[in-house]
Amino acid sequence: MDNPGGSEILTTLLQNQTMELDLFINSQQSERLRTALEEQSRRQTALLLRTHQSRIQFLIAQKDEEVAAAARRGAELRECLDRTEMEKERWRRVAQENEARIGRLRMSCGGCNRRRCCVVMVPCRHLCSCRECEPQLESCPVCKTVKKAAIDAFL
Ligand SMILES: [Zn+2]
Ligand SMILES: [Zn+2]
Repeated sequence: MDNPGGSEILTTLLQNQTMELDLFINSQQSERLRTALEEQSRRQTALLLRTHQSRIQFLIAQKDEEVAAAARRGAELRECLDRTEMEKERWRRVAQENEARIGRLRMSCGGCNRRRCCVVMVPCRHLCSCRECEPQLESCPVCKTVKKAAIDAFL
């Protein structure tokens, strides 16, 4: 060998270059791997978020439906209650009218204030006098309308 030192230097240089190249390739590979891993992680997170979001949206929709159903039930109950109240009020009025009618029928004579009324005055049509008092009454004891006639009432 003419120049064994030079060959050695060349070998060392080549080795160094190979190592640097290896390092370079390694770093490139690890960079790609890192990017790939990051991408995968990002995708998984996004998927998880989407799954979570749709689950939350589903739960919200379910709650909304429950609230709406409760509101509907409430409205139905209120309507039912209103109808019952109206019916109750109607019957109360009917009972009141009946009581008033009975009260009028039991009313004592406007002349003697003692015997029960059994004569209807005309024209006012008030049931306001007993048979005994009627001939002496010139007007209705309830409304003071002048009597034109008197009719026996069926009681
Ligand atoms: Zn009387
Ligand atoms: Zn009268």
